[in-house]
Amino acid sequence: MTSRRIDLHLHSTCSDGVESPTRVMKVAKEQRLDVVSLTDHDTTAGWDEARAACARLGMTFVPGIEFSASLDGDSVHLLGYLVDPDFPDLVEESHKTKDDRVWRFESMVEKINADIAGLTHDFVYSFHTEGGTLGRPTIARALVELGVVATVSEAFDEILAPDNERYFVGHYAPTIERAIEVVVAAGGVPVFAHPWTADRASLASPELSDAAIDAKFGALVDLGLAGLEVHHEENTMFGRTRLAAIAEHYDLIITGSSDYHGDGMKPVLPGQHTTAPDMFDRIAESGTGSAIAWA
Ligand code: AMP
Ligand code: FE
Ligand code: FE
Ligand code: ZN
Repeated sequence: MTSRRIDLHLHSTCSDGVESPTRVMKVAKEQRLDVVSLTDHDTTAGWDEARAACARLGMTFVPGIEFSASLDGDSVHLLGYLVDPDFPDLVEESHKTKDDRVWRFESMVEKINADIAGLTHDFVYSFHTEGGTLGRPTIARALVELGVVATVSEAFDEILAPDNERYFVGHYAPTIERAIEVVVAAGGVPVFAHPWTADRASLASPELSDAAIDAKFGALVDLGLAGLEVHHEENTMFGRTRLAAIAEHYDLIITGSSDYHGDGMKPVLPGQHTTAPDMFDRIAESGTGSAIAWA
């Protein structure tokens, strides 16, 4: 095979994406991908459907999950590849996060609805797919439909931004240290998702020296962190350079991915960023909790 095209970060209606696992895999195939992972937030519910779609389409399927986590009070994400989906601590942590999201979602909707008429409980829930993640993407779609904002991204930049104290509410998530521990214990390969974005990266805090940032990553590596998602649309250009250097220093796996959430959501397509084959091989060699379905 010529160089494999590999995208290890895709979302479906099993979390906050807007396309079914089957549809997501069809779009990935259209973008000429060879290896894909479904990494829904805090759930593995889409694996079976995605695996079957990949088998039909001739793509290699890598089981994955994207854990919500907290780092110094900020919301961060941890990708876990090849985890055992039935590992008790993994199931427990993801259920706790999912449960707390219901309260958090309804709190945010209530606060926004006090200012913006029309964002009623029933209206917002009409954008929710049964079994999916209740989150800001759902609220964003409702705000677009109401004409309050033009795009989902605009809603994220303003009304739903974490620094908008009038509306933003947080939710339970394990610390990143705990999330790494759980992924490792579940036989998985933990990769820090989009670690250096403009609005949600305390590791990249301007108050910290380079040495302090390196040391923070080092502490996570000591716990078992195996990789960094360097090539991601939301990492700053400066961040990508710094992350690549940190990955080299600690001999970490470097990944790249689209974080596709479906048509009309983030302005990316599957395969927009990709993972190098030698880096994927390292993931494939070290995960033991579930099996890759090879094409
Ligand atoms: P929440 O989990 O409810 O705090 O919302 C964060 C989720 O929204 C993450 O999964 C992000 O990937 C997603 N997200 C962030 N920006 C956008 C955007 N512009 N379009 C769609 N989803 C987004
Ligand atoms: Fe998401
Ligand atoms: Fe994420
Ligand atoms: Zn994601």
